[in-house]
Amino acid sequence: MTAQVVPSHTQLIGQLSQAGLAVSSQRVALLGSLIASESEHPTADSLYQVLQAQFPTLSRATVYNNLAALVAAGLIERIDTHEGSRFGPVPVPHVNLICESCGSIEDALVNSELLTTVRERAAAEIEGFRPLNLAATLSGTCRACQG
Ligand SMILES: [Zn+2]
Ligand SMILES: [Zn+2]
Repeated sequence: MTAQVVPSHTQLIGQLSQAGLAVSSQRVALLGSLIASESEHPTADSLYQVLQAQFPTLSRATVYNNLAALVAAGLIERIDTHEGSRFGPVPVPHVNLICESCGSIEDALVNSELLTTVRERAAAEIEGFRPLNLAATLSGTCRACQG
């Protein structure tokens, strides 16, 4: 699990503009709450509910569109599970441990160097492909569900 320092408002704006994205206050809040969620991997709906308290006029479509833009820019990851998509921050290449019993998703730093190498080799060897983030998925049973 990666304990992350939640970046300041200014740092979030920097991340967005560096990725070539337009900066809106909703986008900043969305990225901020995803980074703060750490290993929780919330759904789009739960992010919508959190942000709606702050932006009462916010629509679900805006949240979905902003999430898609952040994923495309490589600032966050989308993990598709049988119960729908979940989102998380992507600091470094990592493994998503998905529990088949309770659906929890935990980030694990299992051999990040190997995953980084795979991403770099993809950039070097696959012509015309611009890799962003690499996260592997490992399904299994979490510790709590084995109890
Ligand atoms: Zn579990
Ligand atoms: Zn993850």
